Amino acid sequence: MDKSNELKVTVTLTDNNGKSIPCVIEASNGRIWIAPQGYGEQSAKKGCGFPIGVELYDGKLSVMLWTDLNEGNPLIVDMENAKESCVAPQGTSPVIEDECPNCHNGTIGLENGRLVCRGECGNDFGSHKHL
Ligand SMILES: [Zn+2]
Repeated sequence: MDKSNELKVTVTLTDNNGKSIPCVIEASNGRIWIAPQGYGEQSAKKGCGFPIGVELYDGKLSVMLWTDLNEGNPLIVDMENAKESCVAPQGTSPVIEDECPNCHNGTIGLENGRLVCRGECGNDFGSHKHL
């Protein structure tokens, strides 16, 4: 096996209140596995689970998420629409960083093809078009 493709690092995840947990990130056999301490998956022994995985499946970037310890099957997220080649045609692309014109306390993001305030008001600005 090509060991140059393997990696194991521990990163400390810290929130805005100073709470933190160590998180192991492992790369092996062409996949990336993420194990935040205290989180696991049903099929793994306590302390041995990797509830987040990233792989290339059938040529598509996929993220596997075991979001519930009592569920055996992962949620599989297809990342293909995040490809840089998926940018919307000129003039229809959302300006994700824009300040919300409604509450001035958030930015506008794209959620399921709709432009939504990610701040205080959570306003829905409609389908994917220029504001
Ligand atoms: Zn807003």
